[in-house]
Amino acid sequence: MTAPAGVPDWSTPAGQGGPSALLLIPGPTPLAPEVLAALARPPQSHTAPATAMAVRAVQLGVQAAVGAGPDTVVHVLPGSGTLALESALVNLVEPGDRVVCCVHGYFGDRFQMVAERLGARVTRLEAPWGEAVDADRVAAALRAGPVRAVTVTHVDTSTAVAARLEEVAQVLRGRDTLFVVDAVASAGGMPVEMARLGIDVVATSSQKALAMPAGLALVAVGPRAQARRSARERVPTLYLDWAEWAGVMAEPSRYFATHAVNLVVAGAAACRRAEAEGWEPRFARHRRVAAAARAGLAALGLPPAAAAGAELASTLSAVRVDPAVSAADLRAAVQAQGVVIAGGLGPWSSDTVRVGHMGEVGLPELLAGLAAIERGLARVSPRPVDGAGVAAALRQAG
Ligand SMILES: *Cc1c(COP(=O)(O)O)cnc(C)c1O
Repeated sequence: MTAPAGVPDWSTPAGQGGPSALLLIPGPTPLAPEVLAALARPPQSHTAPATAMAVRAVQLGVQAAVGAGPDTVVHVLPGSGTLALESALVNLVEPGDRVVCCVHGYFGDRFQMVAERLGARVTRLEAPWGEAVDADRVAAALRAGPVRAVTVTHVDTSTAVAARLEEVAQVLRGRDTLFVVDAVASAGGMPVEMARLGIDVVATSSQKALAMPAGLALVAVGPRAQARRSARERVPTLYLDWAEWAGVMAEPSRYFATHAVNLVVAGAAACRRAEAEGWEPRFARHRRVAAAARAGLAALGLPPAAAAGAELASTLSAVRVDPAVSAADLRAAVQAQGVVIAGGLGPWSSDTVRVGHMGEVGLPELLAGLAAIERGLARVSPRPVDGAGVAAALRQAG
């Protein structure tokens, strides 16, 4: 039987973007064999002890990954990162509340859209693409009147720029305003330090640096955010209501709505791997691989697209493509080598590409990726490239 036109032939090997291609996009990311094996297990009951233990393992893994305090409740829901953002704000924000949204790229816009759908009066603090919002501007916005919540995208995946959470935390210290962070592109690959920075909610998802399959929305809810939900009579949606889930998240064998059974079992396997590596060593590995990626890409004439001095993410790189080269052609030529990289978003869609280096991606995978980018570039670029990227990455890695 042949696949209908337009549907990829999944039996093809790497080279056509098939299932064995090396996935270097900013999520979904490659999965370890034991995580894949968990997906193929026969389903078990959503209330079975083994399922409850898997949910608990994912909760504890996320809690450790984001540096959450002991009183944090981690909600594990079937869904994607966007649902995690929605879960955060639907429980905290009611119509008319003022919310300050720090926007430094595509996903900052999304957080603002979530707030607006809930009827928040949004103050948008926007940084040019490639920079992050200065904490002084947050301080100024807080002086203008009471603010229910400040949202910050930790790593905006569109620019690979990281917000300086510590500086925003200093501005918010000692205030009632809730600090809500989108850590979808950072949790598991970079420290978030939820408790130390006084972050009230960290929203993330499974398919990026946590190296779990796509499909879990993960929301770490600190004590002040829990208290805010308790102080409200009801929230507008049933499924996302933390009060409905509270019993389940305390004892995951209870029922409110069905756990994504195989995804949580796979997620638990991914957490076991991360814990065997150690979260701090894992963050250090991401920093090393990111430095090697930047060295290798820069040597190929693909420098960071961010402004000089911006804090760069350890989990992915967004790089500027030479005007003589079409970014779309480059991606296609790289894909023909068996490696999938991502295109740019929004205003950067025509002249940047993005390379994910998070989760299971270590130096060997990065070097394979750089080799493919090099060979792809050699096909579409007028400039010679001859091994410069791999060599520079190796030199940086030491
Ligand atoms: C990927 C991403 C999202 C959206 O996640 P989905 O799983 O695609 O819904 C939100 N924020 C950031 C920073 C992301 O990288």
